[in-house]
Amino acid sequence: MALNPGVRILVLANQKGGVGKTTTAINLGTALAAIGERVLIVDLDPQGNASTGLGINRKDRSLSTYDVLVGEQPLSAVIRETAVPRLCVAPSTLDLLGVELEISPHKDRAYKLRHAVQTLVSSAPDSERFTYVLVDCPPSLNLLTINALVAADSVVVPLQCEFFALEGLSQLLSTVDQVKRTLNPELTIHGIVLTMFDPRNNLATQVVADVRKFMGDKVYDTIIPRNVRVSEAPSHGKPVLLYDLKCQGSQAYLRLASEVIQRERSLRAA
Ligand code: ADP
Ligand code: MG
Repeated sequence: MALNPGVRILVLANQKGGVGKTTTAINLGTALAAIGERVLIVDLDPQGNASTGLGINRKDRSLSTYDVLVGEQPLSAVIRETAVPRLCVAPSTLDLLGVELEISPHKDRAYKLRHAVQTLVSSAPDSERFTYVLVDCPPSLNLLTINALVAADSVVVPLQCEFFALEGLSQLLSTVDQVKRTLNPELTIHGIVLTMFDPRNNLATQVVADVRKFMGDKVYDTIIPRNVRVSEAPSHGKPVLLYDLKCQGSQAYLRLASEVIQRERSLRAA
């Protein structure tokens, strides 16, 4: 059962930095919007790379997810439109670094985002309701990530195709399991997305085989290739799908979006 009917809340999580969480949040979000979904990206990383990559300047972030988590603003007040139709973002700022200290005395400290999302969804008329919320997490299993996992229906785990890809995965999976047992019984793993694949690198091919062996059909069929256009796009404040729709990276994120929707359908049918 979805936490909020009609809305799927997916969290991009991996406590390793540089594995493609933010890139996947931006470009999966854009691809879902391109095929007609109404998408909100919630930036929960103090670095704010998702906000920057979606063209929201730092000086235009007077309200951010910090204000939401400390309870001073509803999500609706911080949401910004982006250049992509049907794609909005709740931006973050470095203030988020202090949030853990500020909310840790609160009894509902792990539920802050969940409550904010529920309020947003229940107050919006059907025609304006987001159909996907993607939460971009910091590279840590801290209270920010816990808030994301507690607010989520499902977790999407980006794994970089490199030698140590699987290292740390068991810790992430056990955190997900712990949140499922204690705070959010409906939480599931949506899938594992292999990122930055370079076919010229034999090791990368071996990593793909290993991850598929250990994680089976949890791994999406789509693999995101290493593609320079993907890494250039954020400096233009654009998702790669706007920067260069035809490049391999954009095409891979479009395929990933259809796969995500396909999995949603089979989950609902199950
Ligand atoms: P995370 O959010 O997990 O820290 P990022 O999404 O910020 O990771 O990606 C880390 C770096 O790798 C960024 O500089 C990003 O532009 C680059 N990158 C991510 N995906 C790709 C890709 N498919 N091809 C090339 N560069 C990529
Ligand atoms: Mg990031």
